[in-house]
This record gives sequence, C-alpha cells and structure tokens, in this order.
Amino acid sequence: MIPFSPPRIDQKILDEVSEALRSGWITTGPRTKLFEKKINEYIGSKKTVCLNSATAGLELVLRWYGVQEGDEVIVPAYTYSSTGNVVLHCGAKVVFVDAQADFNVDPQAIKDAITSKTKVIMSVDLGGYPVDYDEIMAIAQSEEIKALFQPRNKNQEQLARPLVLADSAHAFGARYKGKMLGSIVDAHGFSFHAVKNLSTAEGGCVCFNLPDSFDHEALYKHMCIISLHGQTKDALAKTQKGNWRYDIVEAGYKCNMTDLSAALGLVELERYESETLPRRKDIMERYHEAFSSESWAECPAFLIENKQSSYHLYMLRIKGVEEGQRDEIIQRIFDKEVSVNVHFQPLPLFTAYKRLGYSISDYPKAYDNYSREISLPIYYDLSIAEQEQVIAAVKSAVTEVIGI
Ligand SMILES: *Cc1c(COP(=O)(O)O)cnc(C)c1O
Repeated sequence: MIPFSPPRIDQKILDEVSEALRSGWITTGPRTKLFEKKINEYIGSKKTVCLNSATAGLELVLRWYGVQEGDEVIVPAYTYSSTGNVVLHCGAKVVFVDAQADFNVDPQAIKDAITSKTKVIMSVDLGGYPVDYDEIMAIAQSEEIKALFQPRNKNQEQLARPLVLADSAHAFGARYKGKMLGSIVDAHGFSFHAVKNLSTAEGGCVCFNLPDSFDHEALYKHMCIISLHGQTKDALAKTQKGNWRYDIVEAGYKCNMTDLSAALGLVELERYESETLPRRKDIMERYHEAFSSESWAECPAFLIENKQSSYHLYMLRIKGVEEGQRDEIIQRIFDKEVSVNVHFQPLPLFTAYKRLGYSISDYPKAYDNYSREISLPIYYDLSIAEQEQVIAAVKSAVTEVIGI
C-alpha cells in the first residue's frame, strides 16, 4: 500500500533525537530556543514563538488580541477544523466566507462579511498555495473598514483595525511576491504536525509581523508565559541555582514545545530548502505532467508569477462529478493499493457547526471544490515508480467511474 504522507525518519533524525534524549533536557529548553531563532532567520519575521501545535498558536493570538464573546472572526468555510474551533474556544462568532476557484478564500467575500463586530480576519493557504494577501491586507487597512472597527482593549486600540491572522499551517516555505510566508501579515501560524511538510511529530509556531509600534520582544515573552500556565519562569530557568521561586501572572495554558520535537525540527529545517522543497516540487510537477492533458482533470495551481506554493498538497479535482462519484473513485484508488485523501470537508458540513446553524448551501463554491477533490500522496521518500503507480491508479479509477 502506498501511504499518503509518512514523515521522513532517517538516521540523522534518529541521531539528533537520541542526542536530545541523552542531553537530559527533554522539555522546552536550548533546542526549542535555537529552533525559534533559526525559523525566524529563515522566514524573516519580526519574532517567532514555538508551541506544541499550530492550533495552540492561533488560539493564543486570538486571546492576545482579546477576542471574546460578542466579537466576530472571519474564517474560510473551506479549511481544517482548527481554524474555526479556536474562534469558538474564545466564545466569539465564526463568520464563514466562501472559497474561490483556487480553493483559497475570496477577498471580496471577506469584505462583504465584515461588520462593526469583526475583530480578526483569518485566511488559510490551502495546500500551501498563498492567498491573495495584498487584497486581504488592503481590505483590513482601508478607511472604510477602519471606520467600522470598534476597539475594546489596548491592543485593538493600538492596531485600530481587524487583525489579519494567517493560518499558514500548510505553507511553510511558500513565497508571495518573493517574500516568505510568515513575514507577510500581522501573524502567521505554521504547523509541524506529523503529516505536514516539516514535522516535529506535533508542533507549530507563530511568526509575528505587527506594526513596529508593537513591542515584539514583550509579545514573545507574553507568549512563552501564557503557553506555560502564566508562569514567570520556565523549567530551565528554575533549574538555575537557588532560582526556585516564580509567580503565576494569569491562568495560562499548557502548550509549550518540547526539545525532543525541536530536535526533529532542527534537522528538518536544515535541509528544508535544499532537499524537502525541491523533492516536493518535482513530485507536483510529475503529477501536473501526468494529469494536465486529461480532459477530466482540473489541476491545482502551485507556481505562478507572484505565488510559489510550499508544495504541501496536490489537490486534484475531477470535472463534472458529483460527490458520490468522487467517493467511488477514491474507493477504487484504495483498491489499487494507493492512499489518497480529501482536503477538506468544509466546516459547515460537520455536526458541531450544523448545530450552530451553519449550512453548506451558503458556501456553494467551497462545496463544489470539496465534492470533486482528491489529494494525492506527496512525501519525501515517494519514488518515481511509486508515483507512477499512483498516477495509473487514479487514471484507471476515474475511467472506471466516469467512463472516459
Ligand atoms: C494541520 C492544520 C492545522 C493544525 O495544525 P496543528 O499543528 O495540528 O494544530 C490548522 N489549519 C490547517 C489548515 C491545517 O491543515
């Protein structure tokens, strides 16, 4: 069976994790701090904090901005549950917006959805393909939207507009107009989950690029404290001689990154540009070459002027099929010993969101994208022969179901 996206576990990874174990320091410590520094250099963001997931990072940013009951947050209907769930955790209202043909959120739909209660605009770079950042930022910064904005605390007064928070979970290493994702809008969350391009088993980070009037060092310290129970000293600081006393400044969370995860991350980051991205790009190009001439195939964009994907997902759509036919094609691909996936079931399709009153019929483009979508395997160790097996399986499954 060809798997969908196993992590790359080689001797280098085993050695570095062993070394971290042998060092005797396994939770947040020197490796996490070094990983943060190296990510920040790679991305060119103002400040980076590592956490145990992208989800935790997105939620901490919403809470830092004071998002609460009575507020609204714009969220693409077409995303993973994380993006919507964190808004609900804060007690705010999720305002979904529809997708466009490239899977990403439609900036015009964002503009139409903004009200005087909107505090944050979230976007998602689906499959690693950057959203229309300039258009989204222009909306958030426009006089019309600023005039609507009603600040409720110090940070909101200082920014004086909706915060733009990018769920860039898929898009580590992607570029927009030549700039690294992570350095574009107010804050970007990246995921290092096991299936993502760069994996630390579980993990994530937030890269901040707020206006210079914000103190990014203070923000970083706040994030470290709030991700560790609101404790003024982390475990490493407490091991310093006689340094046992600490304070709890607020009831914080528990979502710090461990040094074991950072050990994985340091190895992966070191070879990300030279090995990971080129390999993933080659795989995408081979898929593109195999499918772009098929009349039934709608291939995803991954490299155009101004936008360069992180090559996270190859999101193929089948033209003219219904959801049931797509499901049948997937079944037949699995029967040929190839694992595929669907990214994503739009959130309004799920029970938890239906109960809140959302209906997929309000997001027709998201539904259309979802109902025809199949994500194909991409991972570092996928060989050319295996990829040929994937391509053959997809082509014959489609032929069997739609008969062309
Ligand atoms: C994976 C993913 C996340 C969550 O990442 P975690 O690190 O698992 O919290 C968020 N958003 C999207 C779009 C994702 O695919």
